[in-house]
Amino acid sequence: MSGERDCLEASKALDITLLTRLDTQLLPRSSMRAPAHRSRLRQFPLTFVLLTMASSVAAQSSDPALEHARKLLNSAPLIDGHNDLPWEIREAKDAPRDVAAYDIRRPAPKQTDLPRLKEGKVAAQFWSIYIPGEIKDSGYARVQLEQFDIARRMIAHYPDRLALALTAADIERDFKRGRLASLLGMEGGHAIENSLGALRSYYELGARYMTLTHNVTLDWADAALDTARHDGLTEFGKEVVREMNRLGMLVDLSHVAPSVMSDALNVSEAPVIFSHSAARALTEHPRNVPDSILARLPKNGGVVMVTFVPAFVSPEAAAWDTQYQREWDRWKATVSDTSEQRRLADEWKSAHPQPRATLKQVADHIEHVRQVAGVDHVGIGSDFDGIDTVPEGLEDASKFPQLFAELIRRGWSDADLKKLAGGNLLRALRGAEATAARLQKTRQPSTKTIEELDGVRPKA
Ligand SMILES: [Zn+2]
Repeated sequence: MSGERDCLEASKALDITLLTRLDTQLLPRSSMRAPAHRSRLRQFPLTFVLLTMASSVAAQSSDPALEHARKLLNSAPLIDGHNDLPWEIREAKDAPRDVAAYDIRRPAPKQTDLPRLKEGKVAAQFWSIYIPGEIKDSGYARVQLEQFDIARRMIAHYPDRLALALTAADIERDFKRGRLASLLGMEGGHAIENSLGALRSYYELGARYMTLTHNVTLDWADAALDTARHDGLTEFGKEVVREMNRLGMLVDLSHVAPSVMSDALNVSEAPVIFSHSAARALTEHPRNVPDSILARLPKNGGVVMVTFVPAFVSPEAAAWDTQYQREWDRWKATVSDTSEQRRLADEWKSAHPQPRATLKQVADHIEHVRQVAGVDHVGIGSDFDGIDTVPEGLEDASKFPQLFAELIRRGWSDADLKKLAGGNLLRALRGAEATAARLQKTRQPSTKTIEELDGVRPKA
């Protein structure tokens, strides 16, 4: 989700019509990309350009930790757990949903394009096929199917650079042949509309993880940022986890309430993931993972992929976020015109700039997860293109090696860095695949319904 996604990440409930408006208020993409950039470049003498390039190469190679990080990531796949580019393409102002027009060979307006992914040494990317949980005017299936379509068309559009990946073996195959392994992750269990048949169909379309909720509490699971109604997972919610285990789709616990994390860990026979979360002990934000849950990961085999969302990694940014949400709720309650709400928000933001998060804070979260859960249970999930503000030092998809350089300076071993980069996620995905193969021998696809398992459904 673009526009105010970091605010959406943190908000209780933003109005979807307003969000759509915000997205369309972004600068026209075509005016932000390469043609203008190239014409500017032409105005400089060639020697200046060459000198600038040479000095930037010299600056890069003068940092031994960074050189070390780059070398390491050439030999071990870096897997990023969460990137919202497909929603950016959907919402592009000039040519919405047009993967050719949103040309990621050129500099893209947000944090992700092919040159930066390459510089960032990203070997595999879970592309989020997010859909808003706040949709009221149509079913979720249409939007979810359209997001599968956009993501899959995007992958197919760059056959020399991207490849659809469905398994851990695919990731390793693509890494060897120099393609960015592209996996699909659904963001929000609302997409299945209480249907295990829909869940299975989405698996067939390529979904390899699903966050059980987004920001809205469902009929069967409580969201971290919404009112709790079930104290965790309902019986149907548990059946969803069991069916995901049977399919081999990773159960993603980013966005859910701690009670759901706990219930899912009780039920899941396969490793779970958190595709983009941070540590609650360092930043008291409801989207983050408490130590009590981190401590349970060794038994489960799961992975927390530490995110770069400023409000999740910086206590100061989190406090700012809380204050902003309070103001936002007030404007929503008192001002009916959405453009006036937006104007008030802009005015407030320019008077109260959000404190910057930093790369070092992200490294602190990674080290905290390592300390409590263990080095076998930590990974990386940037949330690039889902955020409008970025940590200092982690501005875009080209910056991953800088994060590894920081950990090298903190004394991390190559073996541990490889686990963080992708080794742990590969192990978890293989674990999910093995669990599925085992369960499919004895268990048929579930035909249970929410009415059967939960009785009369509570109304939202
Ligand atoms: Zn998210």
